[in-house]
Amino acid sequence: MERKNAWLSYGEEERTELTALCEEYKAYLTGGKTERESLKLAVKLAREAGYISLTEARQSGKKLEAGDRVYDTLMGKILALFRIGEKPMTEGMNILGAHIDSPRLDIKQNPLYEDKDLVLLDTHYYGGIKKYQWVTIPLALHGVVAKKDGTVTEIVIGEDPADPVVGITDLLIHLSAKQMEKKGSVVVEGEDLNVLIGSEKVYEEEAKEGEEKKDRKSSVLKNIKAILLEKYGIEEEDFLSAEIEVVPAGPARDFGLDRSMILGYGHDDRICAFTSLKAMLETEESEKTAVCLLVDKEEIGSVGATGMHSRFFENTVAEVMELTGEYSELALRRALTASRMLSSDVSAAFDPNYPSVNEAKNTAYFGRGLVFNKYTGARGKSGSNDASAEYVAVVRRIMDDAGICWQTSELGRVDEGGGGTIAYIAGNYGMEVIDAGIAVLSMHSPSEIASKADIYEAVKGYKAFLKNA
Ligand code: MN
Ligand code: MN
Repeated sequence: MERKNAWLSYGEEERTELTALCEEYKAYLTGGKTERESLKLAVKLAREAGYISLTEARQSGKKLEAGDRVYDTLMGKILALFRIGEKPMTEGMNILGAHIDSPRLDIKQNPLYEDKDLVLLDTHYYGGIKKYQWVTIPLALHGVVAKKDGTVTEIVIGEDPADPVVGITDLLIHLSAKQMEKKGSVVVEGEDLNVLIGSEKVYEEEAKEGEEKKDRKSSVLKNIKAILLEKYGIEEEDFLSAEIEVVPAGPARDFGLDRSMILGYGHDDRICAFTSLKAMLETEESEKTAVCLLVDKEEIGSVGATGMHSRFFENTVAEVMELTGEYSELALRRALTASRMLSSDVSAAFDPNYPSVNEAKNTAYFGRGLVFNKYTGARGKSGSNDASAEYVAVVRRIMDDAGICWQTSELGRVDEGGGGTIAYIAGNYGMEVIDAGIAVLSMHSPSEIASKADIYEAVKGYKAFLKNA
């Protein structure tokens, strides 16, 4: 049972649409390298499409009606968008979910130090990374610094071509005899992921009368601190209340001589976030209330106030139902239980360099469209949502009726490894959930690769789901 390749079905019109969509996606990926930046871009696009905030909706004093569009966010890291449907919300919502955090290196709270005339920033990695992939590549600093006076400064260093970049050094091959004997997991160790940011030495103070040059104190740190203060208004203590992420520098770009793919940082999972958002914003009619939920912290277990385990979504649905005039504690629970969801996250694409980790019949392939995983998990499906057969049948019907190119997959051969998503958490409400998404190569690396055809099919598939589920 081989699935068809989407490229074969495209005429000129589809190719034009596909190219335009992928240009938009590359801009989204380049402009949103952190969960905060990604959310900001999403809110901007939503507002342009006529969405208003829940606060604005509440202040207007008007009841929400079919066709009305609202969104809410928390801490700038989790976002839910609603397009009110014709039917009452108690009959269920059609929900697209994805996450906007990606694996990266976070700057520690007390990160700055000088060692033998070099200044470095100490990091703590976030999510699952192969640490050796993060050395010797240009890196950028993205994030926020919150000051005691309540102001928050946004920082992006290393993206403008005129900006400097930073990075992590690696040992020269000439002296790597011992390093090359090590296991891959410890070739580069977590505590050694220190980002080099400066080397110019300056005198600590003005020269005193008659003072010898050799007696004067000097440091690199002094200069770096001056630059941080002058250019970004940051003092060393401000790192205590900062969230600065070290991410690969540079834009997402076309990949392959035929330009059929996109290479970039953070496809996982902004590729599903963008395509879900795009489908949501372009949805003009749906009987049920359409929802797009973009969450944080998936890469570290969906924990905390802005992860899927939080009450954010439930609380926001309650607020929306209050505004449609439907809210009661029981009505809220009914709405959640009656809902259907595509929990979208990236799938592992078949890699001809590493065929042995996959079982060919149950693997995702580039160009074969939107991927559905009935279950995820590891070691005997542990941690999986495992969508019901009946729901998989519903999804098959919707996709086939809309002429979507789609395929099914498992994450690797049995007992090869595994992974989880947010699907099982939404499943706790009793709603129907299936894992969906887009296949990528080099997942969780600084340069992930995805197929343009799969991005195009995903948006079409998500739209069909919002309209017909
Ligand atoms: Mn993911
Ligand atoms: Mn991931």
